[in-house]
Amino acid sequence: MEFIQALRGTRDILPAEIGYWQQVEEKVKDILGRAMYQEIRPPLMEQTDLFERGIGEATDVVGKEMYTFRDRGERSITLRPEGTAGVARAYIEHGLDKIGGIQRLWYKGAMFRYERPQAGRQRQFHQIGLELLGSPHPRADVEVIALATDILKSLGLKNLTLFLNSIGNKTDRERYREALVSYLLPYQASLDADSQARLTRNPLRILDSKDPNTQKIAQSAPSILDYLSKESLEHFEQVQMLLNDLEIPYQLNPSLVRGLDYYTHTAFEIQSADLGAQATVCGGGRYDGLVKELGGVETPAIGWAIGLERLILLLKELNPPPEFKPDFYVVSKGEKAEREALVLTQRLRANNFRVELDLSASAFSKQLKRAERSGASICLILGGAEAESQTVKLKWLTSQQQETLAIHDLLNTAQKYII
Ligand code: ATP
Ligand code: MG
Repeated sequence: MEFIQALRGTRDILPAEIGYWQQVEEKVKDILGRAMYQEIRPPLMEQTDLFERGIGEATDVVGKEMYTFRDRGERSITLRPEGTAGVARAYIEHGLDKIGGIQRLWYKGAMFRYERPQAGRQRQFHQIGLELLGSPHPRADVEVIALATDILKSLGLKNLTLFLNSIGNKTDRERYREALVSYLLPYQASLDADSQARLTRNPLRILDSKDPNTQKIAQSAPSILDYLSKESLEHFEQVQMLLNDLEIPYQLNPSLVRGLDYYTHTAFEIQSADLGAQATVCGGGRYDGLVKELGGVETPAIGWAIGLERLILLLKELNPPPEFKPDFYVVSKGEKAEREALVLTQRLRANNFRVELDLSASAFSKQLKRAERSGASICLILGGAEAESQTVKLKWLTSQQQETLAIHDLLNTAQKYII
């Protein structure tokens, strides 16, 4: 019979791979926790309007990539394509914009975009993201960037480059936009179709085009850095100075832009040289205008998102998955011994050991083979004689050495057997 497969662009994360995901999630929780960021879990679906206003209708995400549907109450609902809009909505909805001060938040979870699936690009993918709301200061920008680099470094990633730009404030960008459009207009016919459409709607995004011909034209476009106001330049210079203080290397990249009005000042990306076309592992920037755009009190903010699929592709190249093995593997044969084995297993687990119980009731030789394959250092053996005398046989699976102990002695001293 034909079986039902997972949707195109979605993937099962199986036990063989899950160790990588858990390793990343633990590192993130630890590093961000030490920086006093707290996790926030907004819903996976929101009113479509939130993303139309919060990401902007002229973007690819809103224009072509959203999973939007009507629910049974005829509401337009969208599966979140990114995390920032939901976090900003929650921030406003719970009045955090009115109490002032700083909010340090992070999130993790699935995002949904209708895109062409390929390595490092899926329709359901996962991000870990961070938002720092309430500070306009360049130190906030650099704190946030430093945390992204800390996370990637702590996982052992190499060949990463931090690209940095400033897109100034709204007025800077309006002036730049005019200059860019007048530079691009003569080349209009040679641009790719998407970029031609963006020329009036969202010209800054043309700089981001992946079309080689458009890229060539964009290379000689005016640089946004020549259009920054004095204040914007000052902010940008301070960001660079503070990155230098922290010895975080970066490369300036004036074509790193965000096309929307509420994005301001710092924009950055961390790319890997080992990822081919889908090179960006982390993207982020300042969005001082977003909270107001969504109806809240004007609040400066900055954040980033790391794409976990891409991160895990890199980790797989570097390391085998983290080990998942028991401290003890318990084998038993015979009714009484099997009952004792279950009790012993649960007691050891209650004492914080990782214990795998063989449930097969097959021959001892078969159970012992499985014990070896499990990666445990010690196999605990219970047969009729052991069950009768309330003892257990310990077998070290590397040296084959054996020892018999009273069960209660094992429970009292088990720690010394596990290195
Ligand atoms: P790209 O240019 O690669 O499409 P983007 O600019 O759309 O990226 P962002 O919205 O900035 O990406 O999302 C931040 C990060 O999330 C990206 O740098 C990437 O690592 C990851 N990401 C985005 N879209 C996908 C996807 N469809 N599948 C897997 N990861 C993704
Ligand atoms: Mg994209």
